[in-house]
Amino acid sequence: MIPYGRQDISDADIEAVIKVLKSDFLTQGPKVPEFEARLAERTGARHAIAVNSATSALHIAVAALGLGPGDLLWTSPITFVASANCGRFVGADVDFVDIDPDTFNMCPKALAAKLDAAKAAGRLPKVIVPVHMGGQSTPTREIAELVHPLGIRIVEDASHALGGSYLGQPVGACPYSDITIFSFHPVKIITTAEGGAALTNDSALAEKMGRLRSHGITRDPDLMTHASDGPWYYQQLELGWNYRMTELHAALGSSQIERLEAFVDRRNALADRYDTLLAGMPLDLPGRQEATRSAFHLYVIRLKDHDKARHRDVFEKLRSAGIGVNLHYIPVHLQPYYQALGFSPGNFPIAENYYQRAISIPLYQGLSDTDQDEIVVAITKALSP
Ligand SMILES: *Cc1c(COP(=O)(O)O)cnc(C)c1O
Repeated sequence: MIPYGRQDISDADIEAVIKVLKSDFLTQGPKVPEFEARLAERTGARHAIAVNSATSALHIAVAALGLGPGDLLWTSPITFVASANCGRFVGADVDFVDIDPDTFNMCPKALAAKLDAAKAAGRLPKVIVPVHMGGQSTPTREIAELVHPLGIRIVEDASHALGGSYLGQPVGACPYSDITIFSFHPVKIITTAEGGAALTNDSALAEKMGRLRSHGITRDPDLMTHASDGPWYYQQLELGWNYRMTELHAALGSSQIERLEAFVDRRNALADRYDTLLAGMPLDLPGRQEATRSAFHLYVIRLKDHDKARHRDVFEKLRSAGIGVNLHYIPVHLQPYYQALGFSPGNFPIAENYYQRAISIPLYQGLSDTDQDEIVVAITKALSP
């Protein structure tokens, strides 16, 4: 089976992890700050907080922004459940904004309409989480122009988009958002096995997220409520969690990030090649948004709307042909957990139509041209009546 995604581990990556195992620190040593410095340097953000998953990064991000019970978070329905769940972690309500059918990202027009309705109803979101679906940047500037005048904060879920760029800046630089989060799960652009990070230009948010990742504890005398009791002393200022990244994971991340450019170049070359090889077929190919360079975490093909009854059949034919296709994503509002909160089929028609037609085909840095040709042959066969 050719998988839809796969990590790329070099001898240098393995060496970096072994070195940590032989060192003094397995956790809370020098490797995590080193990885954070590399993330900040690569993206241009002032601060990076590394954690044990992107889900944890989303949690500390919304908690640092003060999201809580009675508040509202909006995200895209075409994403991994974690983008929405972070709102629920802190007791907030969650709602969705339908997608742009061409880029699969949150649609600014749908957002503008929903904001008008929310203003009229007197219930605006406190935080919005646009998702860089498949690695292509969400139109953060347009979103910021709509939400900033209303005091709404932005957390970019860029789990798919490390190494991509938007309006001439790397994704993660946060020029239009409060916080950007990344995932380092093995199918993502670079991996730390499990891992994630939250990036920001706001030093108060960085400090707060740094504390929340480690129990809400500080050793900084300036932040304490009274003078230190002695050299052993620390204070818990608020309720946090243990979301720390280990030294092993951080060393792997620092080694991987050295090849980020090469990874994203290869993913783009493969995506361009898919564009050419699939051009004549009865499919809708992923749209490219101007002024962005996708990191191409995913390459999503869609059957034509009139073919959607064949969706499952085509998907199963590809799996039987040894092509590890996948589907990103089941619209989050259709999950039983969210339906129990009041959502139902028909709420976000563009996302639901996307779900009836989408198939993620293999795309990762180690995919060879020969494998890709084999995938294209299998797609041709699966599509033939
Ligand atoms: C993978 C992913 C996450 C969660 O990442 P973890 O590191 O596995 O917690 C969140 N959002 C999106 C869009 C993702 O693809």
